[in-house]
Amino acid sequence: MADTIFAKIISGAVPCHKVYEDDKVLAFLDINPLTRGHTLVIPKEPAESLDQLSDDSAAALGRVLPRLCRAVIAATGVRHYNVLENNGAVAHQAVSHVHFHIIPRPNPQEGLDIGWSPKTFDRAEAQALATRIRGAVDP
Ligand code: AMP
Repeated sequence: MADTIFAKIISGAVPCHKVYEDDKVLAFLDINPLTRGHTLVIPKEPAESLDQLSDDSAAALGRVLPRLCRAVIAATGVRHYNVLENNGAVAHQAVSHVHFHIIPRPNPQEGLDIGWSPKTFDRAEAQALATRIRGAVDP
């Protein structure tokens, strides 16, 4: 297993404030929360980025993620939230082990700030690109 801080949390070498565990998934509070209740959900499989994750781990994560979102809502009383998953240093990934952030958004001032600068949509290019991506999807 890669020697990340999350691998150490999974093995029990580093403590965490655990909120959920099963045979494939662990969830715990983020140590530097953006807001109260900021939770990390990770696969036990040591994949660095989402594209490297097995279907089994992906299914296990997908199964519990909505349940954990509901639990964070119930515990914090905050109805709005963001789910964030960074891949690669340029995309702000600091820990090289797949992790989903659940970040409560109690008001417009607190929580995840998103810079969102949409580009214009070129229909001809989009058609070619969609065809390429479609052809690259694993069966
Ligand atoms: P990212 O930028 O998506 O890689 O986020 C990594 C997250 O891991 C950050 O929000 C950190 O605060 C969090 N983090 C790092 N070390 C720990 C730790 N020991 N326990 C809990 N959260 C951690």
